[in-house]
Amino acid sequence: MNHHTPEQLADEAKKIIVEYLDKIDDMKPKERTKIPPQEMPAQDPIVRSSNLDEVALGYTIEQARIEAMRCLQCVKKTCVEDCPVRIDIPRFINHIAHAEFESAAAVIKEASLLPAICGRVCPQETQCQSNCAVGKALKDVDKSVAIGRLERFIADWERATGKIATPEVKPETGKKVAIVGSGPAGLVVAADCRREGHHVTIFEAFHKLGGVLRYGIPEFRLPNDIIDKEIDVLKAMGVEFKTNFVVGRTRKLTDLIEKDGYNAIFVGTGAGLPMFMGIEGESLVGVFSANEYLTRANLMRAFDKGHADTPIYNSVNVAVLGGGNVAMDAARMAKRLGAKNVYVVYRRTEVEMPARKEEVAHAKEEGIEFYFLQNAKRIIGDENGRVKAMECLRYELGEPDQSGRRRPVVIPNSEFILNVDTVIVAIGNGSNPLISQTTPQMNVNKWGNIIVDETQKTSIDRIYAGGDIVLGAATVILAMGEGRRAAAAINKMLAEEIEKEPNSSN
Ligand SMILES: Cc1cc2nc3c(=O)[nH]c(=O)nc-3n(C[C@H](O)[C@H](O)[C@H](O)COP(=O)(O)OP(=O)(O)OC[C@H]3O[C@@H](n4cnc5c(N)ncnc54)[C@H](O)[C@@H]3O)c2cc1C
Ligand code: SF4
Repeated sequence: MNHHTPEQLADEAKKIIVEYLDKIDDMKPKERTKIPPQEMPAQDPIVRSSNLDEVALGYTIEQARIEAMRCLQCVKKTCVEDCPVRIDIPRFINHIAHAEFESAAAVIKEASLLPAICGRVCPQETQCQSNCAVGKALKDVDKSVAIGRLERFIADWERATGKIATPEVKPETGKKVAIVGSGPAGLVVAADCRREGHHVTIFEAFHKLGGVLRYGIPEFRLPNDIIDKEIDVLKAMGVEFKTNFVVGRTRKLTDLIEKDGYNAIFVGTGAGLPMFMGIEGESLVGVFSANEYLTRANLMRAFDKGHADTPIYNSVNVAVLGGGNVAMDAARMAKRLGAKNVYVVYRRTEVEMPARKEEVAHAKEEGIEFYFLQNAKRIIGDENGRVKAMECLRYELGEPDQSGRRRPVVIPNSEFILNVDTVIVAIGNGSNPLISQTTPQMNVNKWGNIIVDETQKTSIDRIYAGGDIVLGAATVILAMGEGRRAAAAINKMLAEEIEKEPNSSN
């Protein structure tokens, strides 16, 4: 794809919009589908591959309005049906088309508390945009109305104009809610429970807040400043945060209720346990899980060479094993940390890759090389126990497996050597076993995910759970959706208790 500069895109939009301003409400669907889709302005690929600044720069006002005018305001709102938190998408888009940005923000906030984050990292192409009428009419899902970019535009506009409203908090109820984990699931529960006037404390194992948003997703996709601003809103609401607090070690989960007087707990501890391939050489120096690699880079600031307490390995040739978003983040981070060659090694083809298309496109633009239908057989070390190469196998696609994707089948005697000094394993994450090990009465499934009912309640009274610890490694918006459901159930339980109390005014 040719890179258009942000200035080119902005100038083009200024020219185009004139044609449509007088007829915003009068265009026929056919005319709307002819409005050119707006490309996201982005940093130049060569420049950005050596900095950590955000890659996507966001729409200008004219671009956002043009993109919004492409929406057909469908009667059957498939986009809303496909949005896990049911944002009234056509309504907020219509406000953008009319330059009513504050109203657009209010519509989004009815359903989503973290629009600046979701607008950046949600896989819209498989959710709200997947069945958009415009994409269908143009027979190309990539030409659907860019709902995510519009959501991000509104959140950024709110922040830039200083108009982020602090949600109203009801009078104190005297009830206490503990939240374990400060990822998106925990943050949503905190906001929803605090709004009802309950005292809310978030316990976080790390020294920084945000979960994977902070330690996993790199700043070039989701700047820390955005996460800080969302957390500032919670602080302004009166949510209390306790960092460096490992529930299960610092304090047992049930002690929070039995000894510390919490009336309810939400467990949102995520899926932070890295999986490995189980092949020879995985304990050599120079082999990382993507989690460790990204945590060192993002949370421990390893990119700040010479200053960071936790430096990172100096790599020249890096292999990243896997084909999801985590693999893309690790590969692009390795490039930014100075690697000369970065290879993504994936045992299926590009079609089966679970990573977002946009991330794959960005990775390619930045010079990441993709080795499809290949996988590691073993990692080879030198005399000092450091990685010096990887033996790989070639694959071909066979019959579809249970997931419906064609199964990769090894081609016999296809071994070859890839010279690398670093291997990053990004083949998935499992749930952290600490809570279940230290709370034996908690029911978990065979993968260690906490089992919950339809209200997100666990097998223990007053304890709820949601997000990746329940779903397995999933997405930000699904974690938020589970958080919302859990908060509703906690609020209902506490409201019923308050009503039954002798001093209740009801
Ligand atoms: C590198 C990477 C890239 C991703 N990219 C995307 C993307 O582009 N789009 C998308 O939608 N999703 C993406 N995901 C997935 C998404 O980030 C997760 O699905 C989501 O963050 C899950 O939210 P959560 O709140 O359940 O848990 P998490 O975000 O994992 O947060 C859990 C928190 O709990 C804390 N914790 C754990 N145990 C304890 C304990 N015992 N005591 C106290 N605190 C504890 C952890 O330190 C962590 O801060 C990505 C994931 C990774 C790893
Ligand atoms: S499906 Fe697409 S065109 Fe229809 S209302 Fe939703 S965003 Fe607009």
